[in-house]
Amino acid sequence: MKTYNIAALAGDGIGPEVMREAIKVLRATEKKFDFKLEIAAAPVGWAGIDAAGKALPDATLALCKKSDAILFGSVGLPDRDPTIPKEERPERAALLRLRKEFGLFANLRPVVLQNELAHTCPLTKERQGNGIDILVVRELTGGMYFGQPKKTEDIGNGQQRAIDTMVYTTQEIERIAHVAFKAAALKDSKAPGIRTGKVTSIDKANVLENGVLWREVVTRVGKDYPDVTLEHMFVDNAAMQLMLRPTQFDVMLCENMFGDILSDEAAALGGSLGMLPSASLGATSGEITFGLYEPAGGTAPDIAGKNLANPIAQILSAAMMLLHSFNDYRAHNAIFEAVQKVIKQGNRTGDIFSAGESGARKVGTCEMGDAIAAAVSNC
Ligand code: NAD
Repeated sequence: MKTYNIAALAGDGIGPEVMREAIKVLRATEKKFDFKLEIAAAPVGWAGIDAAGKALPDATLALCKKSDAILFGSVGLPDRDPTIPKEERPERAALLRLRKEFGLFANLRPVVLQNELAHTCPLTKERQGNGIDILVVRELTGGMYFGQPKKTEDIGNGQQRAIDTMVYTTQEIERIAHVAFKAAALKDSKAPGIRTGKVTSIDKANVLENGVLWREVVTRVGKDYPDVTLEHMFVDNAAMQLMLRPTQFDVMLCENMFGDILSDEAAALGGSLGMLPSASLGATSGEITFGLYEPAGGTAPDIAGKNLANPIAQILSAAMMLLHSFNDYRAHNAIFEAVQKVIKQGNRTGDIFSAGESGARKVGTCEMGDAIAAAVSNC
């Protein structure tokens, strides 16, 4: 029997509450399918600082290194973060450090809007079609955010000049393109909510040298995936099309800054941060070498400790881990279907509840986790 070693880093705020539910659901899949889960918990974020003086304690990093994947909660507390230097704050010292340590250059953010949750989406029902299902694949370690030179300099007469540099190499574009095409090709898995086999590559090739190279390289890599349809779109048009006709998108492939912006825009279509999982992956030729899986939202201190948080983002992050790190379609699908089922049955945490919705029942974090775990057991 296969054993999956998982480092569970719950972090701060709602992190521990939603992590508890994700582990509950993972345990239900373990009972159902033929694998064993070794899940080891370790502190990170303010929990790490309080326990061991650092947002990413050495023991936590050591645990991650001997694990097959990291299931991450969220870190940072707005009232405590400003009390310590920027580089020691949880998001930078723990999350960015882990991304760097494990070479996590690919960020995957699926945005799925189930018909039953149409009321949570800001678009009209007509624009939502039969439900929205987009995977944003964002390059995470290159482009404008990291390119050199990056500086602000005095240029005389009391004037300053700020410089950021957008840099991509062929190899950086190739490796993220492989991840996107491979994800699009997962249509063959028949997994629910998974791909129709189309990549829309986003660039600004009409203005940027980077865009020209991006388009050339993605086109070339696309030839290795004859079953995947490739189209190119300028980023400004993509921002507009997401609002006008989001159902045209399957996989959106973006460089770092465009992906940062478009993935947040796409997230708004998913209704609530509490529904949105994510994966950050390292890969060679598109084959996943390591993954960190976390909800798209933060620590939500406004609702922490009150049994109000929606655990679905964390639970679906665990499902993504089963798919991308462990290649276990059946377990991934079981969780995905269980989430769809409990939503259909009318279970709603506060963030997706609407008083006018007939058949909807307000539940807490724990009850939502119980319902999903039970649906996995009964699938
Ligand atoms: P947030 O995502 O924590 O919260 C924004 C809003 O979304 C809040 O109203 C919150 O209640 C709601 N929300 C988020 N997740 C939810 C869930 N699962 N269920 C129901 N509602 C949910 O963003 P913020 O308030 O700007 O940030 C709070 C802290 O989280 C900050 O310290 C920030 O730095 C940190 N943060 C961490 C990460 C991360 O660890 N990856 C990401 C974003 C923010």
